This record gives sequence, C-alpha cells and structure tokens, in this order.
Amino acid sequence: MNIDLHTHTIASDGSLTTNELIQRAVNSGINVLSITDHDTTSAYQQLPAITPQSLTIIPGIEFSTQWQKTDIHVLGLNIQIHNDAICTGIALQRQARMERAERIAEKLEKLGIENPLSGAQDIAHHNNIGRPHFARHLVKVGATSDINQAFKKYLSAGKPAYFRQQWSPLFQIIDWIRSAGGIATLAHPAKYKLTRVKLYALVDEFCALGGEAIEVISGKQIPATTRDLTKLCQHKALLASCGSDFHQPGQSWTELGKYPRLPKACKPIWDKW
Ligand code: AMP
Ligand code: MN
Ligand code: MN
Ligand code: MN
Repeated sequence: MNIDLHTHTIASDGSLTTNELIQRAVNSGINVLSITDHDTTSAYQQLPAITPQSLTIIPGIEFSTQWQKTDIHVLGLNIQIHNDAICTGIALQRQARMERAERIAEKLEKLGIENPLSGAQDIAHHNNIGRPHFARHLVKVGATSDINQAFKKYLSAGKPAYFRQQWSPLFQIIDWIRSAGGIATLAHPAKYKLTRVKLYALVDEFCALGGEAIEVISGKQIPATTRDLTKLCQHKALLASCGSDFHQPGQSWTELGKYPRLPKACKPIWDKW
C-alpha cells in the first residue's frame, strides 16, 4: 500500500487542481490519498464524479492554530466534510485568514511593496490567501529573488511583514475534527523547531484535548527525525500518520508518496478505518 495523507491543491497554496492531484497520485501508484488544504475542504467540491478504482480518498484538512507563541498545524483526517461543526470552524478560519491577509498587506505596503493584497488575491484561487501567495507576489514584483527569500526577508515569524494571527484555539480545532468523526493529527511535529521538552509538553496538551495521532513521517526526513518521532509516538501511545506535504511538482523533497515507510513500532492511523 502506498499511502499519502497530507497534500495540497490550488484550494490553498498548492499548484495543482483536485483533478490534476488525483491524476498525479494515480500515476505515482498511490492507493490512499488525503487532500489536506489549509483551513478549507473546498477541493472536495471538485472531485471527479468517478474516482479511479485504484484510489481511496480520505477526506481531510490542515487547520492553522497556535500553541503558546508557536504557529502549529493540526490535520483532521477522515472527517465528514459536511458536518456542521467543521463547516462552522472553516468559516471562522476563513475570516481569520482574510483578516491576517489584510494585516500582512498593510505591513508590506509600509515596506514599499505595491498592491500586495490584490497581487496575492490574483495569485490565490478561491480567495484562500496564505503567505506563499504573498511570497509569489514579492517575487513577481522583484522584491526578492525567490519564495524562500520572501519568507526569510518578510514573511516568517519575527520578520517585518509577519502578523501573529489569533487562530481558533487548539481545543476548538480538535473538537471540530472529533465532532466530524475525524482523527486530530499533529502535522510535521519536527518543523516547529521546539525543544524536546516543549514538544513533549505540546503533545501532552494535544492528547489531553483529544488529539489522537502525530505525523511520524513528513516528506523525505532524516532518519534521526524518524527515530525521535517514533519514540514520541510510542511514549504517548498515539497513532502514526505519514504524508508528503506535497504542494507542487518539481520540489524533490516533497513528492507524492516518496518518503520513508512508517516504522513497524508505530500503530498506523489507518488501522482505525
Ligand atoms: P500560511 O498557511 O499562510 O501561514 O503559510 C504557511 C505555508 O507557507 C506552509 O504550509 C508552506 O507551504 C509555506 N512555507 C512556510 N515557510 C516557507 C518557506 N520558508 N519557504 C517556502 N514556503 C514556506
Ligand atoms: Mn502550505
Ligand atoms: Mn503544515
Ligand atoms: Mn501541509
């Protein structure tokens, strides 16, 4: 089985449509796919009438929230996408994203960037604006040489166009996911650059609030990360998930289904399905 439970489309900051992503998944030999766009399930409105027989699609989402002062992401996997609680949650997050986009645009304008909001809106489909859309606008107007530099110079935490958004709190997001029958899964735990003590504290709170899984494998990570996250997963008796965090073709570190297998010591999340 080739399982990828973390991917993006143009409904958030990916570059492929739902159909293109599904086609690429089939061509890559993926059997189980979750589309987990940031704070939206709108990719699921674009599903083809008949999905390829070889592919099972697990409805999902990647919610933005914060823990202490760190921005973190929580995947809702195997959710009922029409559930009232999750729909209410998505509406709140959309509003928060729009407000944040306005704050970021104000900051960029003060830094001399022209039309940042309309520029990012033009790049974003579905009006679900994220920092990568601002990054692409910054490259387009020649303010930075590439996307990575746009984050480094303007958009990352602590940089001049960063705005600390108050997303819906962690407990709320876990509640929405659980109300929709899904499994709350802490996305890419190694990417938050937390100390071991802090990461364990985050996971303690996450579990106490009803979180049930962590991504033990996120893209082509190094073996030391896999070892550490396997230990964490076992220590807290969590389920384990895996995914590429695929956004677009051509990024060799995140290609659909291309990452280490879940270690045998981990209990796979799909055992519950
Ligand atoms: P947002 O959801 O608007 O906070 O944007 C976060 C997204 O930006 C992540 O999901 C990544 O896709 C992307 N991202 C974050 N940091 C970087 C970076 N340094 N370079 C390129 N993309 C990044
Ligand atoms: Mn992203
Ligand atoms: Mn993420
Ligand atoms: Mn992601």
